[in-house]
Amino acid sequence: MGKTHTVTLIPGDGIGPEVTDAVVRILEATGVKFAWEKFAAGASAFEKHGEYIPKDLYASIERNRVALKGPVTTPVGGGFASINVTLRKKFELYANFRPIKNLPGLETRYPGVDLIIIRENTEGLYVGLEHEVVPGVIESLKVITEKGSTRIAKFAFEYAAKHGRRKIHAIHKANIMKMSDGLFLRCARDVAKGYPDIVYGEHIIDNTCMQLVMNPYQYDTLLLENLYGDIVSDLCAAFVGGLGLVPGANLGAEASIFEAVHGSAPDIAGKDIANPTALLLSAVLMLHHLDEAAAAEKLMTALEKVYTEKKTLTRDVGGTAGTKAFADAVIEKL
Ligand code: ATP
Repeated sequence: MGKTHTVTLIPGDGIGPEVTDAVVRILEATGVKFAWEKFAAGASAFEKHGEYIPKDLYASIERNRVALKGPVTTPVGGGFASINVTLRKKFELYANFRPIKNLPGLETRYPGVDLIIIRENTEGLYVGLEHEVVPGVIESLKVITEKGSTRIAKFAFEYAAKHGRRKIHAIHKANIMKMSDGLFLRCARDVAKGYPDIVYGEHIIDNTCMQLVMNPYQYDTLLLENLYGDIVSDLCAAFVGGLGLVPGANLGAEASIFEAVHGSAPDIAGKDIANPTALLLSAVLMLHHLDEAAAAEKLMTALEKVYTEKKTLTRDVGGTAGTKAFADAVIEKL
């Protein structure tokens, strides 16, 4: 009998509950045993408990050290602080790991893409320190620290060394933000010296966007501070079929939260049309993290069969199937 993994589950809102439900069903069909501790977060949690992040949710992540999370809507231009950012800061999930890879059988703008995005997850403009200096003038603080920049650079180089990646580009705008992005680069350069087998390069963020669209194959692993990582992730998602396909992991010493790159997609919520693949691939990363490599591989094989057959794909990738039917197809392959 295999071990039962207790995992904190945050279905989120928008398309979150639909894609989470699909992924939980698929995970259970792998034969791995899970005990889910399920919590609301964000607006729905506030309605029920008067808290955007219930205390019991924090306690559950502290206990289990692993969570699977659907997207939670962040209000624009006001309202409560991002739940995603708050959780990342609270548990010091400093590394946001996002692999961008084509699924076999799915035709996309660029075939054979294999990029790793490593985004600093706790600082930069996401510290949310904004204030009104005088009416009509707002200051928003970008915080870059030596500690934060060094640990994300170490994470990137360690990952690259362990997984046979060839090169790392640090992405910056240090020609304008000479001090903050300058510090980020200095830390990356210092860490790079300890890994002579990995080619290290530096590209300016705006040029990087153009270079990526011209020829994504010139890059291998991208190391970015928080905001650049957010933007470049969505750009790179388009290479492999869109946001419905790109997974993510928020990693730190104390806990790991696995979640898709996409947001709550209110435009398609509640219609059974969202693609659960991005969260499913995040769950594959979680299975590896839980030392369930055989189940992870089995799940990938089942998923790849569904994509290769092309019979039960969701609308975002050219099919007509709903979220539930897609999940059923993967379960059948399992
Ligand atoms: P956030 O800022 O919270 O990350 P966002 O602004 O990036 O969110 P999303 O909610 O990710 O926005 O949605 C962007 C677009 O991608 C929308 O048109 C949405 O319908 C589509 N999309 C996102 N996720 C999926 C998915 N899983 N399946 C299909 N389409 C999706």
